[in-house]
Amino acid sequence: PQESRNACHWFRINALRLDDNPALLAAIEYSSSSSSSSSAPSASAPTTTSASASHSGTAEPHNTLHNVFVLDPSDATIPSSGLPLVFLLESLTNLQSRLTWLGSHLTILRGQVEQVLPDYLSKHDISLVTYEESTPEPASSQVAQRLEQALHPLRIRQRLETSAFVTHTLYDMNMLLVACKNTPPLTYGKFLSLIESIGPPVAPLDAPHRLAERGPAGQTDAATGGIPSLAELGISEPHTPLMFHGGETAGQARMHHYLGDLARVANFSKPELDPTLFEEPSSSVMSPYLRFGCVSPRRFFFEINKVYIDSGVTPTQPPVSLLGQLYWREFFYLVAAGTPNFDRAAGNPICKQIQWDVNPEYLAAWESGRTGYPWIDAAMNQLREVGWMHHLARHAVACFLTRGDLFLSWELGRDYLQRTLLDADWSISNANWMWMSASAFFHAYFRVYSPITFAQHYDPEGKFVRRFVPALRNFPSEYIYMPWSAPLEVQREAGCIVGVDYPKPIVDHEQVCRTNMERMRDAYAQQPDAAALMAVSAVSMLT
Ligand code: FAD
Repeated sequence: PQESRNACHWFRINALRLDDNPALLAAIEYSSSSSSSSSAPSASAPTTTSASASHSGTAEPHNTLHNVFVLDPSDATIPSSGLPLVFLLESLTNLQSRLTWLGSHLTILRGQVEQVLPDYLSKHDISLVTYEESTPEPASSQVAQRLEQALHPLRIRQRLETSAFVTHTLYDMNMLLVACKNTPPLTYGKFLSLIESIGPPVAPLDAPHRLAERGPAGQTDAATGGIPSLAELGISEPHTPLMFHGGETAGQARMHHYLGDLARVANFSKPELDPTLFEEPSSSVMSPYLRFGCVSPRRFFFEINKVYIDSGVTPTQPPVSLLGQLYWREFFYLVAAGTPNFDRAAGNPICKQIQWDVNPEYLAAWESGRTGYPWIDAAMNQLREVGWMHHLARHAVACFLTRGDLFLSWELGRDYLQRTLLDADWSISNANWMWMSASAFFHAYFRVYSPITFAQHYDPEGKFVRRFVPALRNFPSEYIYMPWSAPLEVQREAGCIVGVDYPKPIVDHEQVCRTNMERMRDAYAQQPDAAALMAVSAVSMLT
C-alpha cells in the first residue's frame, strides 16, 4: 500500500496569510501528490506550485493537510496583551474564515510549541511540516530550534521532514549575510549597492484557490479549541475597538486603498509627510500587516512597482520613496541579523556607549502622556489608544526620551513601544531607536526636534493635540503647543488649568537640550568609530 503523505503547515506569527505563502503551498503540494513523487520540498528552492495542484485530480483521499497555529505562552514573539493581542486574534479569525472558505480549517493548539506540535503531528501521522523561517529576533529562532529538537524522534519514527521558507523579508537574510561576507553595510547607500548586485526580489506567489477536497483537514479536532476570546486568555479589561483591523483581508484592503491613489504613491516623499494626520494617516499604515505577515512584503513591493508604471510619472526614489521604505526595512533586518547584541547597548559593536540617566518618574510621565508637552503627550496617547503612530511622531517621542530632553536609555523607550505598537518589530525597532538616540547609524546628535515648533509647522491649529489630549480641547491655537504660557484667564476660559488639569512641562526643553548636547559630545569624544568596531566584530564572528 502507498504511504500516506499527510502534511502540516505551521502558521507562524509573522506569516498569517494565504497569499505569497510558499510554505503553505509546499504542504498542499506534498499532501496532494502520490507517495511515488519526490520527497519534501527544500527551503532553498521554494516551490512555485500553484493551487491547481490541490485539485488536479491526483489528490489521494487518505492524505490530509493540517493548518496549525500554536498559541505558546512561552513564545516572546507572540503578543500576550493589549491591542497587539486583539490584532492577532482578529488576524487568526480572518485566517480561519479564509481557510474555511477554501474547504479547510485552522487548528489552534495551546501550550509550548515543542510539546503540543509534536503530539499533534504524531497523532495525525504527519510526515511533512512546513513553516516560515525565523527572523533575526533571538526569540524567533529559539522557538524554531526548540521545535526542531523536539521533532527528532518523529523524524525516525514517522520519517518526518520539515521545510522552512523566507517571505517575511524581500531577501533571505542568510543569503545577504553571505553576500556581504558577514559584515552588513552600515549605511543605506551601501545596502542599496549590495542588493543592486543581487537583483530584484523573487516575485510573490498567488494564494491557493482550494486546499482540500475532503479529509480531516475540514474537521475540527476534538482535542483542540478554536480561537480563544480575550476573556479565555485571562484579559478582562475592556479595550477600544481597533482602528486598524487585523487580518489578511483588512491588510489587502488597506494596501489597495493606499496604492489606489497613484499620484500619492509615485510622489511619496517620507520627510514631507504630515505626522499629525490621524483619521487618514499620510503614510500607508502597512506596518502592522507586515509585522504579522497578513500581507507579504514581496506582494507590497510588486504592487508598488505596478503603481509606478501605471502612474505615468517618474516616481520618487529611495531613501524617501515608498519602495525606499521597504528597503529601510530590509537594511535594518540585515544589520540586525549580523550584529551581536543588537537589542542592547552593552556588547553591541555598532552602538555608542552613553551614560543615560535613570529616572522612573520621567519614564512614567513619557509613557503615560504626561510630560506637559502637548505634541509629545498627544503622540504617546495616540500610541496607547490606536497602537500606531506616524514615523515622524516616533522620531519626536524617541528624541524627547533620549538625547533631546529626558536623557533616558533608548532601551527603555524601545521596551514600551514594543509592548504597545501593533507593528512592534524587533529588528526595525532596535535599529530606529539606536538611530534616533544617535547611538548608531545617525550621529548628528546636535539636531534635536523641538517638542513645540515641530508639529506646529504641520498643524498650527493643533487638531492632533485636541484629539489626543482632551484636556486641551478648548485651548486657543496660539497656546496649544505651550499651554503653560497662556494667561490664567485664558486657561480658565479653556477649562484647563496647567498644573491642575494638565501637567506643567517636566523639563525646560531649551535648557536640558543644551546640557544634553554637551553630554552627547563628551560621550562621542570617548568612543571609537562604530564602523571600525563592526569590522572587528565581524572578523571575530567569522573566526
Ligand atoms: P510607510 O512610510 O508607509 O512605509 C511602508 C513600510 O516600510 C512600513 O510599513 C515599514 O515596514 C517600512 N518602513 C518604513 N519606515 C521604516 C523605517 N524607518 N525603518 C524600517 N522600516 C520602515 N517600524 C516597525 O515596523 N516596527 C517598529 O517596531 C518600529 N519602531 C520604530 C521606533 C522608532 C523610535 C522609530 C523612529 C521608528 C520605528 N519604526 C518601526 C519605523 C517606522 O516608523 C514605521 O515602520 C512606520 O512609521 C510604519 O508606518 P507605515 O506603515 O505607514 O510606513
